[in-house]
Amino acid sequence: MAGHADEHERTMAFADIALGQIKALRQAATPRNYEIWYAYATGYHPSLNHQINELLQQNGALSDADLERIYNDYLSPTRLTDRIDTVGNQVMGEIEQVMAMIDAAAGSANSYTESLVDMSEKIGNSKDREGLRAIVESLVQTAKEMEVSNQKLEERLNASKQEINELQENLEAVRTESLTDPLTQLANRKFFDTSLDRAIVDAHTKNEPLSLMMTDIDHFKTFNDNFGHLTGDQVLRLVAMSVKQNVKGQDTAARYGGEEFAIILPNTVLRSAITVADHIRRAVMTKELMKRSTGEHLGRVTISIGVATLRKGDTIQSLIERTDNCLYSAKRHGRNRVMCETDPEVAGAVSAQVA
Ligand code: GH3
Ligand code: MG
Ligand code: MG
Repeated sequence: MAGHADEHERTMAFADIALGQIKALRQAATPRNYEIWYAYATGYHPSLNHQINELLQQNGALSDADLERIYNDYLSPTRLTDRIDTVGNQVMGEIEQVMAMIDAAAGSANSYTESLVDMSEKIGNSKDREGLRAIVESLVQTAKEMEVSNQKLEERLNASKQEINELQENLEAVRTESLTDPLTQLANRKFFDTSLDRAIVDAHTKNEPLSLMMTDIDHFKTFNDNFGHLTGDQVLRLVAMSVKQNVKGQDTAARYGGEEFAIILPNTVLRSAITVADHIRRAVMTKELMKRSTGEHLGRVTISIGVATLRKGDTIQSLIERTDNCLYSAKRHGRNRVMCETDPEVAGAVSAQVA
């Protein structure tokens, strides 16, 4: 955890940028505008920054409507529930329209049947050819009308299907956003908690192995102090990328805390999890860091990793606790290393229990 003084320095830097922007653009210094510019300064929402930069480039200023829209899209605490409500209302609207169409179609099918019955009676009664022709013509006319109305119905149903598909995608996007860490685009803590819960139940039921990995960047506080928090954030993104590139589709990589990542590895024995951990560790340490804006060389960062595997009777808490214990052993034994619960250096190592 960052100390109070550290937190003060870091947040004051963001506050200065935020107020500087408000002054430069002569905007109202309202909490909403301050929040927008504060978020801009942190860079946590890359698409918010992108949108602001584009608007500034196009118009040289941001209108109140722009600010309102940006706030609603990215920051308003109710934005996700608002979006869900909107989608919900649109779905209800679509359903009502489709129901009305079905009613209308059922109505015209009924009257079509009635007119067929009516005409078949007339055919029965008709004696002359002229009468018969009139009946057939009217039959053809009715069938044509029916075809047109069927075509309209089909078109409307297709449009509705497309609309519902879009709404579904919208809903999926909201769901994904609510479970994603904005800075690294990895899963967030909420998603991690439910995934680990599910993975433990799955592993117990299927009698399959499950491993957990926790990583923490070494001496990251010093890195932030030396190069600034914004550069630190870029490094967090880079470490997240190294994690993502070294895990498979079935694994869940999440931002567990500030500079800590956790990876759930279903159907993976301890030995394989250690191999994955070592790949991640090497990928991070071999990256030469450079500040994009200035080209300044920043050296390298390393990470420490703890790995543990599920045992009978484990809960989320006990598994996390053992993994964390391994991580702290890795820190104590010099950092930039992977340690697991079978390592004799780990307090309470249980080599006999894990084959
Ligand atoms: P250790 O090797 O023992 O892990 O040393 P450390 O300095 O990394 O110590 P610790 O893990 O306790 O410190 C966490 C530091 O990570 C504090 C803070 O400066 C930094 N940090 C936490 N969250 C963020 C974040 O979101 N962005 C940036 N840039 N830094 C963060
Ligand atoms: Mg830490
Ligand atoms: Mg650390």
